[in-house]
Amino acid sequence: MAARFDPQEVFNQSPPYRDVDLFGSDRPLQEAVAANGAAGEAAALSAFGRRWGSAEMFEQARLANEYPPKLRTFDATGHRCDLVEFHPAYHHFMAESTAAGLHASTWQVDATRAAPPAEVARAARYFMVAQVENGHMCPITMTRASVAALACEPALIKMLMPKLTSRHYDPVFRPWREKVGITLGMGMTEKQGGTDVRANTTRAEPAAEGYRLTGHKWFMSAPMCDAFLVLAQAPAGLTCFFLPRFRPDGSVNALYFQRLKDKLGNRSNASSEVEFTDAFALRVGEEGRGVGTILQMVQLTRLDCAISSAGMMRMALAQAVHHCRHRSVFQKHLSDQPIMRAVLADMAVEVEGALAAVMRLCRSFDLAAEEPSEAARARLLTPVVKYWVCKAAPALIYEAMECLGGNGYVEDGALARLYREAPVNAIWEGSGNVMCLDVLRAFGRETEAARATLAQLAREAGDLPGAGEAANVISKLLADPAGEADARAAVERLAQLVGAAALVASAPLEIASAFARSRLVGRRGASFGASGLAAGDVRALLERALPPS
Ligand SMILES: Cc1cc2nc3c(=O)[nH]c(=O)nc-3n(C[C@H](O)[C@H](O)[C@H](O)COP(=O)(O)OP(=O)(O)OC[C@H]3O[C@@H](n4cnc5c(N)ncnc54)[C@H](O)[C@@H]3O)c2cc1C
Repeated sequence: MAARFDPQEVFNQSPPYRDVDLFGSDRPLQEAVAANGAAGEAAALSAFGRRWGSAEMFEQARLANEYPPKLRTFDATGHRCDLVEFHPAYHHFMAESTAAGLHASTWQVDATRAAPPAEVARAARYFMVAQVENGHMCPITMTRASVAALACEPALIKMLMPKLTSRHYDPVFRPWREKVGITLGMGMTEKQGGTDVRANTTRAEPAAEGYRLTGHKWFMSAPMCDAFLVLAQAPAGLTCFFLPRFRPDGSVNALYFQRLKDKLGNRSNASSEVEFTDAFALRVGEEGRGVGTILQMVQLTRLDCAISSAGMMRMALAQAVHHCRHRSVFQKHLSDQPIMRAVLADMAVEVEGALAAVMRLCRSFDLAAEEPSEAARARLLTPVVKYWVCKAAPALIYEAMECLGGNGYVEDGALARLYREAPVNAIWEGSGNVMCLDVLRAFGRETEAARATLAQLAREAGDLPGAGEAANVISKLLADPAGEADARAAVERLAQLVGAAALVASAPLEIASAFARSRLVGRRGASFGASGLAAGDVRALLERALPPS
């Protein structure tokens, strides 16, 4: 008699990728952390990596995105309430990330920067969190970045800092002065312009105490933050304001949420359209200096976009390598098939470069207060690294998805969500062209410092294949004041030089060389696996990518 079909008998499927140590299983991360001054954090990062790589965290991430936030505009009796309700899993992540200090660990309570390696240590944690759940990191990122802008208002920041640096997540809707811990958001984008914030139409009128804001924001994420930094037109021009959810008298401030965006990804996070009618706000910085004030914040949110995208790339790569090591096709594991090995190794070298570039950039932020050359490097390379890594992530995640075949495409696994999440990091906080124009501006206005950074990168990349030629090409492209149309080519090449130079310092020379040969000398093909990596490089990259399970 024929054996009955047993639906419980499943074979040749890869075991779920969970209960992993996100730090211990990631050699490039360990090396980048050590190379950038944070070796002493290894034990704490390992504990963090085990916690965030647990099956429970992956499940909470699924729930937080499966049940997105809902807007409650009115209560049962017709009174406005303007509240957003989240699934408990979202609050779980907020509490975890706040307890770990991701919203504030780079600041001291007097709003000065924490000592090195605070930035690198936080980035390593952020990189691991991004592998699991990104939506909740929007308010976490904005909270830590807001301090840079608020620092110009000593009296206000003094009151805020103990609450901003608290490790206690307090989601209760009540005035910030009454809370132990608070979060801050940001509202710049209006219907008629996001990049061009000078076109903002929201008005700010001086009032007895503070200002009254009337207008709208077309995107304002994390609307349950306790206050927002917003731009509005004051009598002397575009100005930055601190806009709390409650007025000083304890009444609810006049922020009226119109709806939540129905987004491609980033679904655990709420992004609102909001109107203000005589909303109470305090000025931050001088009237008419709004862009300069809020840019202090934006520099840090851009850095976080790059860290987040590098983290998502790492998770996609790890899932692809893991799957291919377990899945057999035509009696051979996928990870032993030559074309698949070329694809995986090409992805691995891209992740190596992105991670190394991001961590070295964080080191510059760590050192900026003491070393002007590092401050200049951070200024120039933040848009470069943001541009490159955020653009690289969607393509890499797509390729990883394909490595998993059909399983990669369905929502039961994590890759579909990662793929939908990835593009937002390139779009917000300065989209691709805007980042390239920013680099051109830096070369135009701070030419000497920018050239010194470029020369330093060339020195660090040393004898790597293609490094000297790349530095010359970049220099020529960026020297042309009419070169806007070539800016993407220049910035991409500069980013690859940044990646190569960072790898020299943090990875074995063969990895840095493989990156340089495939990215600086050879121009990578349109898809992964077409870079012509040597067999030895492929082997080394795949061994480093993930320990055998
Ligand atoms: C999920 C999500 C959440 C968001 N949350 C917030 C938030 O909390 N707060 C907030 O203020 N905003 C938020 N935004 C808005 C976001 O920052 C903007 O969408 C972004 O800055 C782009 O602005 P825009 O949409 O007006 O596009 P535009 O400014 O119209 O830009 C459109 C395109 O033109 C390009 N471009 C612009 N200028 C030039 C130029 N000179 N030359 C060549 N190309 C150019 C840009 O790179 C872009 O590709 C959010 C967006 C999303 C998707």
